[in-house]
Amino acid sequence: MANLLLVITGGIAAYKAPELVRRLRETGQAVTCVLTENAQRFVTPLALSAVSEQPVYTNLWDLKDEREMGHIRLTRETDAILIAPASADFLAKMANGLNDDLASALMLASDKPALIAPAMNHLMWQNPATQRNVDALKAAGHSFIGPEVGDMACGEYGPGRMSDVPDLVKAVAGPRPLAGKHALITSGPTREALDPVRYLSNHSSGQQGMAIATSLAQAGAQVTLVSGPTALLAPSGVHQVDVVSAQEMLAACQAALPADILVCAAAVADYRAADVIDHKLKKTGENLSLNLVETPDILKTLCHSPQRPFLTIGFAAETGDLATKAMAKRTYKGCDWLLANDVGANPAIFGGADNQILFLGADAPEAWPLQSKAAVADALAAKIIKYFA
Ligand code: C5P
Repeated sequence: MANLLLVITGGIAAYKAPELVRRLRETGQAVTCVLTENAQRFVTPLALSAVSEQPVYTNLWDLKDEREMGHIRLTRETDAILIAPASADFLAKMANGLNDDLASALMLASDKPALIAPAMNHLMWQNPATQRNVDALKAAGHSFIGPEVGDMACGEYGPGRMSDVPDLVKAVAGPRPLAGKHALITSGPTREALDPVRYLSNHSSGQQGMAIATSLAQAGAQVTLVSGPTALLAPSGVHQVDVVSAQEMLAACQAALPADILVCAAAVADYRAADVIDHKLKKTGENLSLNLVETPDILKTLCHSPQRPFLTIGFAAETGDLATKAMAKRTYKGCDWLLANDVGANPAIFGGADNQILFLGADAPEAWPLQSKAAVADALAAKIIKYFA
């Protein structure tokens, strides 16, 4: 997930900040807000911490954060910086290296280019002093969006309105090549009840499916994540449906159709108890046999359904001759692409942070390097984007 630092300075357009944060989060970004003192006259830190679900920073002299070198840390941990609205005063400070508050200090302590959305009275914007500052900031590598021409809060008309929220989101999130596509993703383990307190399951953490959901949402897809029990929460913008058993997972997937893209990353339990015992099983001093029946194969079922998604993708954890087994599994499941990993060679993959994939698409198998699950998700998203292009 990308981290965005949103610097909000004083101006009436600051009232749009909570909406901006919400829309940015829908694109899969985590947003951290910094407010100047004047910004707080138009929008409260409380509202922004509620919509961002992150701490909001306002004070250079906040001891706790300064001990952690707050203004340095905030710009180091971020992937991008958006200043919206940017007041004439803030542009002047930035252009001249002044820093007397947290927002201006962290910009001075940053070597990252910012995207700047100015908002001010039109004569302030057109004033040669402001234009000199804008030129200096552009020369320093920062870029600008807006201001737009229109009615001003002061009743005058001209260039000075902050760009609209959707335009800011588009500028920050970049191209959204999967816009209009619905991606259905299964993730995590399933739990198959034996009795009211026991179940059959596996060690899947759900990390790979969650990473794929995040990457596809960032690419603009509408994402439904059907997840078995995990400790992970989907980023906002991903519609998460929580399920427990394989049967529930299949039903939730069927209810979410139609979809353009299906990615089955869940580690579905293969067996469930034929009869779930309605009371807690007691020890009897005898051996116990469980009568197990197969769970529905979700990937196979959806690949053979009349509502088959356009592009269907499965995973396969195998041991031994990976390519041969993966090829056979792709045929058996009826999916278009298969991402196989050798869990015999790499037992840490299950529940771990990294993954090593043999990718079977339309062309010759590709051996991907051992990389983070987020990197695997980005590589898969890139393939999907290319496919639909
Ligand atoms: O058969 P196997 O478990 O090796 O297949 C793995 C692939 O099939 C994964 O994509 C997994 O999500 C999917 N699968 C499924 N339903 C099952 C078993 C596996 O969707 N019951």
